[in-house]
Amino acid sequence: MERLSGIGVSPGTATGRAVVLTLATEVIRYPVTAAHVPREQAALDQAREQARHQLHEIRGQLASGPARDMAPLFDAQLLMLDDPLLVGHARDLIASQGINAAWALNLAYEDVRRVFSEMQDEYLRERQTDVADVAGRLQMNLRHYGGGMRHLLKDVDAPAILVADELSASMAAQLDWTKIRGFAIDEGSRTYHTAILARSLKVPAVVGLHNLASRVTAGTPLVIDGASGEVIIAPTPEVMAEAERFAAAPRRRVVAPAGPVEPVVTADGVPIRLDANIELVEELPFLDEFGAEGIGLYRSEFLLSGRTLAAATEDVQFDAYRRLLEQVAPRRVTVRTFDLDERQFARASDRGRARPGLRGLRLGLAHPEVLQTQIRALLRASAYGSLRIMFPFVTAVEEMRQARGIVRTLAAELGVPLVPLGALVEVPAAAIASDLLAREADFLTIGTNDLIQYTLAVDRTDDRVSDRYEPLHPAMLRLIRHVARAARRHHVPVSLCGEMAADPACIGLLIGFGLTEFSMTASAIPLARQLVRGLDTGEARRVARQALSLATAEEVEQFLFDALAASIEESGRG
Ligand code: PEP
Ligand code: MG
Repeated sequence: MERLSGIGVSPGTATGRAVVLTLATEVIRYPVTAAHVPREQAALDQAREQARHQLHEIRGQLASGPARDMAPLFDAQLLMLDDPLLVGHARDLIASQGINAAWALNLAYEDVRRVFSEMQDEYLRERQTDVADVAGRLQMNLRHYGGGMRHLLKDVDAPAILVADELSASMAAQLDWTKIRGFAIDEGSRTYHTAILARSLKVPAVVGLHNLASRVTAGTPLVIDGASGEVIIAPTPEVMAEAERFAAAPRRRVVAPAGPVEPVVTADGVPIRLDANIELVEELPFLDEFGAEGIGLYRSEFLLSGRTLAAATEDVQFDAYRRLLEQVAPRRVTVRTFDLDERQFARASDRGRARPGLRGLRLGLAHPEVLQTQIRALLRASAYGSLRIMFPFVTAVEEMRQARGIVRTLAAELGVPLVPLGALVEVPAAAIASDLLAREADFLTIGTNDLIQYTLAVDRTDDRVSDRYEPLHPAMLRLIRHVARAARRHHVPVSLCGEMAADPACIGLLIGFGLTEFSMTASAIPLARQLVRGLDTGEARRVARQALSLATAEEVEQFLFDALAASIEESGRG
């Protein structure tokens, strides 16, 4: 037994076995019962088959291009897939140690890496990067198998305590708190976003534990005391029994099971549309389960992962879009055209110069054959469902006009009707001039992920400035309100599809700005539906007005979380 102390941020006692999530390595670890061993092994086998398919595709494409000398490298990776030391070893570990597939693969990879790093032969030692590449690919396939975070945790046996190096509020919002009884996080403080959410949801939580995620083995029994900040690792049976007496029974099911997809309305009867953001067609089976009305953002450039632009021919794209539209029909699908920058474009096409500059629609207009191929495929597929086309990274009205011209010409050539064309408002210029853009577009979608980084001059991938990446910066609130108003005045539908939509503290604010359509990661929808049902739009407008009067992101955040906590409290009583 070992006692640690952190910062108690949400009172209550919780007991359970540790489920460990290390975001740094993106691996989740938890024990599985003997009955679940075949399921984990099947997931691993499936990840391997998917990897084989991906590697064959990459190899095939390279073999006929100028980088053909690289092709044999992938032969080595294909052989590694069948090496008993990696997947074979991981399969054995699942059974012998009773652990989930991602964890077993991680352990097997560490063993292989050790062997490689001790090799004398430099050539062999360098093959380490290939092993890392293969293991990374398998982990990626495992993560997508089953539909992401919420699904990975669906197989966890309750009661569990989530131990993580870090946990964002939008991730926390996706968890099933009937199984996860509390959490213990390495980073954080009392005002840490997720800590405030924990208090609102009445989930016991301790943060600021520094290195618990690397110290504790998944499956270890834990007791956490969210008032004192104490965490007990492997408690004695007496301590455990005592804690269990205190342990708060889950007060209520925080995340309602999503039923059949009926539109959600606020407490005062305003319909709110909740769509899903997706990258892969494999995510579609989960739409109903999470209660998505349709797809508000399909990031089509994911069609190019493991495939060159040359291989993504019009027919290949047509098949993909047709499948997507058919599966979602009659619900609406908004496909965003390729959002590539020049580096990504150069990688996918062996053309262009590898320097950043052109991106999104600008890049599409600079390489019209790429945009035209995609538009033709989309227009042909449009007969199979309800399609809208959205252009990324629009910065000026002229770009939108040019894009519309291209779509018109191609639709006439193909003899098909036009589909609604929208602009993704994710660059400050587009947001500021959204009144002008609204006259050119059939719909607008606010993309806060990029809008935040360009407005605040904070690169979202640079960890030195990441703490300044503030969705609730007063400038952001003003910009979002401005776009919502401009769209309303011009009677153009507007939605919001950045991560901000998945943040439970933000949805009331955004509705208060007059937004009624959101698109978010699918697993965040059930909690959003629940929050929307309890919300009064008059009250949301009041919250929004007050938030606009505050001077710093921190003040806004604190204010919104207090408002969220009060409304959850209220709906719990009601
Ligand atoms: C955005 O920028 O908000 C957005 C939705 O697009 P992405 O995250 O794909 O850049
Ligand atoms: Mg973007």
